[in-house]
Amino acid sequence: MSNASEHVVIVGAGHAGGALSGFLRQYGFQGRITLVGAETTPPYQRPPLSKAWLKDTTDTEALLLKAPSWYDEGGAALRLGRTVLSVDEAARCVELDGGERIPYDHLVFATGASARRLTIPGADLEGVTYLRDLVDADKIKSRLRNARRLAIVGGGYIGLEVAATARHHGVDVIVLERETRLLSRSASDPIARHLRELHASQGVACAFGVEIAAIEGQAGQVTGIRLADGSIVDCDTVLVGIGAVPNSAIAQPLGIATEGGIPVDSEGRTSAAHVWAIGDVTRRPLAHFPGQYRLESVPSALEQARRVACSIVGRELPAHELPWFWSDQYDAKLQIAGMPAASDTPVLRGDPTQGKFTVFHLSRGTLCAAECVNNPGEFLAAKKAIAAGARAIAERLADPHTKLSDALAGKASEPAAAVQ
Ligand SMILES: Cc1cc2nc3c(=O)[nH]c(=O)nc-3n(C[C@H](O)[C@H](O)[C@H](O)COP(=O)(O)OP(=O)(O)OC[C@H]3O[C@@H](n4cnc5c(N)ncnc54)[C@H](O)[C@@H]3O)c2cc1C
Repeated sequence: MSNASEHVVIVGAGHAGGALSGFLRQYGFQGRITLVGAETTPPYQRPPLSKAWLKDTTDTEALLLKAPSWYDEGGAALRLGRTVLSVDEAARCVELDGGERIPYDHLVFATGASARRLTIPGADLEGVTYLRDLVDADKIKSRLRNARRLAIVGGGYIGLEVAATARHHGVDVIVLERETRLLSRSASDPIARHLRELHASQGVACAFGVEIAAIEGQAGQVTGIRLADGSIVDCDTVLVGIGAVPNSAIAQPLGIATEGGIPVDSEGRTSAAHVWAIGDVTRRPLAHFPGQYRLESVPSALEQARRVACSIVGRELPAHELPWFWSDQYDAKLQIAGMPAASDTPVLRGDPTQGKFTVFHLSRGTLCAAECVNNPGEFLAAKKAIAAGARAIAERLADPHTKLSDALAGKASEPAAAVQ
C-alpha cells in the first residue's frame, strides 16, 4: 500500500530524529516528513562536541548527519528553532511556539535529554557550563581559551572527555566526584581505576566523596566551589556533568510519559495510537537483557530509528542489536558492549599498564559485557559472542595466551540476569 499521502512529524531534530528521516527515505517512504527542532542547526552528531569540537579539530559540516541539500531536495522539511509545545491527540496535530498547528499521521518523539542542572547557590554565575549541544560546546570552547583552572562536577563520561580536551588546551583541571570512584554508574572498577591513572598522568586532579555546597563568585564570575566541609576549590570555570534528564514533559498530557522517560516497545511504539518515541527520551526493552532501560547512546538511538522506520513503511524488522557505547580520552579508546552492570564476575584480560586490555563480564557463566581499552579486535569478537549468548570460562578468558574463541563455550540456556 502506498504511503505517499502520509505525514510523519518528528519532534526533535537531533541524532535520533535526523537518522529516522534518513532511514524512512532509504526504506522507500514517499510521504511528507517534517522535523521540528528547538535548535537552529540541522541534525548533527553530539559525540564530537566533547572531543574533536572542543579540540578545534573538526567543523560544523563534519558534524551534520546530512548535507543541507538533502533536506532542500525533498528529504525532509526542517522547522528549526521551533519548539513543539503541545499535542492535540484527538485532532492528530502538534502545536508549535507561535501557534502553528501541523497535522500528522505518525508522530515521533525524539526529544532527547537535557543536562541535569545544579540548584545550589551560585549555579547561575557566568562560567558555570553544561554540555549538551553546540551552543554549550561553543561556550566551553571559548572559555577554555582563557581559563586558568576548570573544576568538573561529576566524574562521568562527559566530564572525563572534557577533562582530556581541557588538558589538550593546557588548562588545569580538577574533577569533583560525590562517589568513591569515577564512572560509578557506568563502568567497572578496573576501567575506572585505569582512567583515573590515565588522567592523573596527564595532570588531572580528582577528589572523591565530595559534596559541593555552592559556587563562589565575584562580580558575577566564578572564583571557586565551596564544598560541604567548608573548603574552597579554586577555579574560574565549572563544567557540570551530573547526568541528563529525559525531555518527556511534552508527552505527559498524552499519559505516556514517566519521570524515567517515555516507555516504548521494541519497535518504538508508545501506548498511544500513532505515537512513537526514539532515542535518549525513551525507556526501552533490550533483546539480550530483561528489564527496561533508558540508554543514552548513538547506537541505541540509531537502532530505534531504524526499527521505527521499518515499522512505518511495513518493512521486515532488522535483528536486534546489542547495546554498545564508546568514549575517547587522550589516546585511549574505550568501547563497551553489553551491560557491565549485569555482571557477577569481572574478568581482566591483558595488562592495563600496557594501555590495551579488556574487562569481560560474566553473568551466571554467560558473557554479558566487555569493556575494551584500545582493543577493537576483542570488542568486535565480544560483541558477537555476547549477542549469541555465549558461555565463557573465566580462567581461560583471563589468560591472554588462550585464544578468545577457546575461552568461549557454547550457548547459555538462560538469559543474563537483570541489571540492578
Ligand atoms: C557531549 C556529548 C558527548 C556524547 N558522546 C557520546 C559517545 O561518545 N558515544 C555515544 O554513543 N553517545 C554519546 N553521546 C550521546 C548521544 O549523543 C545521544 O545518545 C544522542 O544524541 C541521542 O539522540 P536523541 O535524538 O535522542 O537526542 P538529541 O540528539 O539530544 O536530540 C534531541 C533534540 O530534540 C530537541 N527538542 C527537545 N524537545 C523539543 C520540542 N518540544 N520541540 C522541538 N525540539 C525539541 C532538542 O533541542 C534536541 O535538539 C554524547 C552526548 C553528548 C551531549
